[in-house]
Amino acid sequence: MSNSGKVEALIPRCLCSIENINNLNIDFEDLCSVSVSWENGFVSELKPLKIKNKKPNNILFPRFIEAHSHIDKSFTWDQFPNLKSNYDGALSVNLQEHKTRTTEKVLERAEKSLNSAIKNGYRAIRSHIDTYQYQGNDVWAELFKLQKKYSSKLQLQFVALSPLEFWQTESGRKLAKSFSINKGILGGVVVPPFNKKGTIKLLSKMLLLADKYKLEIDLHIDESTTEPGAGLKVLLEVIDKLKIQVPITCSHLSSILFLKEKEILDLGKKIAEKKIKVVALPLTNFWLLNHKSEITSLKRPVAPIKELQKSLVDVSIGSDNVQDPWYPFGHFDPFYMMSCTMPMLQLNPWERMTLSSIFLAPSRLLNLKWDGLIKKGCPADFVIVDAQRWADVFSSNLKRKVFIKGDLHC
Ligand SMILES: [Zn+2]
Repeated sequence: MSNSGKVEALIPRCLCSIENINNLNIDFEDLCSVSVSWENGFVSELKPLKIKNKKPNNILFPRFIEAHSHIDKSFTWDQFPNLKSNYDGALSVNLQEHKTRTTEKVLERAEKSLNSAIKNGYRAIRSHIDTYQYQGNDVWAELFKLQKKYSSKLQLQFVALSPLEFWQTESGRKLAKSFSINKGILGGVVVPPFNKKGTIKLLSKMLLLADKYKLEIDLHIDESTTEPGAGLKVLLEVIDKLKIQVPITCSHLSSILFLKEKEILDLGKKIAEKKIKVVALPLTNFWLLNHKSEITSLKRPVAPIKELQKSLVDVSIGSDNVQDPWYPFGHFDPFYMMSCTMPMLQLNPWERMTLSSIFLAPSRLLNLKWDGLIKKGCPADFVIVDAQRWADVFSSNLKRKVFIKGDLHC
């Protein structure tokens, strides 16, 4: 059978759920030696591998999940570069790009992104799509067709990223209504400086709209170096006032890093209480925020992952932009993201909380059927790399094989 097979591999201990642990060999980097068999696209057996003084030559990961991307603008850097590499520059070049945007161009970028992502080992992606009041609706019909077209290989989730005002217009309400069928997500931007009263009003309307159609919300919030946590504080105020339960994701949440530790932990508790999920996006934050041309600035805020996790907030790490005005590098490659993120944020790959933010939290964020743990009965969806230790994973020339439902993807 083509979708059956067997491999001896190392798996990070926290990513595999194994019944018989008596003879399990776990090395000092928390990699355990196992034998994995699969039949008809699902894992049929997972057992400890007992080879004294010999390690398998592979590390097996579950296929990855991208918690936050922008497939509508990826690969536009060549035509729309932002050579100053700052937030304002990115925003203004982004607006230039919109003037020439067509459905055809968006689809072309999206397909290029999805094909790269599948090849590199992703199984699901949440992508924000720039959305405006005077934009035709045909892009959405086509995007949902694309979602269907790729569904056997990759699960795709869309967020309509628009100014908050959009959600109180007729087109905004119409789109929200259509999302109740297609399972789209309402998006927006809350970044200071903003008018507090006006923002409370707009956020309230957006939350009520989401509640009406049972939709989720995913906000680009506090992607800023000023007024630490201003957006989050307003959001918490709105939720308290409305007393409704809308699933909310805070993407970025960078500036709270500038608050005192106690305040971060207190805010973290409130975020956890409201079941708000957070997506940290270190690559774009480190690239764009507080970008100085003459000094080497290390004051670049990113969501304080460890403090938030300590407050029991479910934090995912995402890649954000790929080769567009906001970030000039990347290629929908989870290993590139991990290689940058681990040293940047001092995250140990041999620790459960690190891998949880890359594999397990994103699965919860996207409400995927499979939690991402390798276990008997899980999909045979693997990325197997030629490696025996973490240093091999984070080096160049990494050789990988991607298995989708038990079949090798070529
Ligand atoms: Zn983004």
